[in-house]
Amino acid sequence: MLPVVALVGRPNVGKSTLFNRLTRTRDALVADFPGLTRDRKYGQATHAEHNFIVVDTGGIDGTEEGIEVEMAEQSLLAIDEADVVLFLVDARAGMTAADQAIAEHLRKQNKTTFIVANKVDGIDGDSSSAEFYNLAMGDVHQIAAAHGRGVTQLLDHALMPV
Ligand code: GDP
Ligand code: MG
Repeated sequence: MLPVVALVGRPNVGKSTLFNRLTRTRDALVADFPGLTRDRKYGQATHAEHNFIVVDTGGIDGTEEGIEVEMAEQSLLAIDEADVVLFLVDARAGMTAADQAIAEHLRKQNKTTFIVANKVDGIDGDSSSAEFYNLAMGDVHQIAAAHGRGVTQLLDHALMPV
């Protein structure tokens, strides 16, 4: 079995953009409309001779209604079956209540989790990411999924345990 890396986070933080970069496909829908990826999406990826499965999810924000409930359940299932969780947050938007709710859930799981502050292109990544250290889940890895910045370094860390 290949290790499974789940991309988790509230809608619109860039999970599908990162999925596409990792799998180099257009399989996961990327859109400005939050929550378009309704199910878990699986893709194969390779980094430094590690082959792994990456899982894109629709996102969780803690206020789900209707179809969003199903999407949130998919995200929880994805966390469950993952070896490593990449918990994405939006460095431009800053911390939200949804980020805190997800962090609370993840803290209860016994999963290797990495906080990933996305969208640091064109902004001061260090100061925008600093508040996410308050989640007390370790280092905050800065990336720009849309451009690839920081992704190699992130994978160097994230795939170490697997
Ligand atoms: P998801 O809902 O978490 O899957 O988020 P998406 O991957 O669909 O991205 C949501 C929005 O953020 C889209 O408009 C993306 O183009 C944008 N986005 C994703 N990654 C980056 C990035 O690294 N930098 C910037 N500036 N925008 C990004
Ligand atoms: Mg998506």
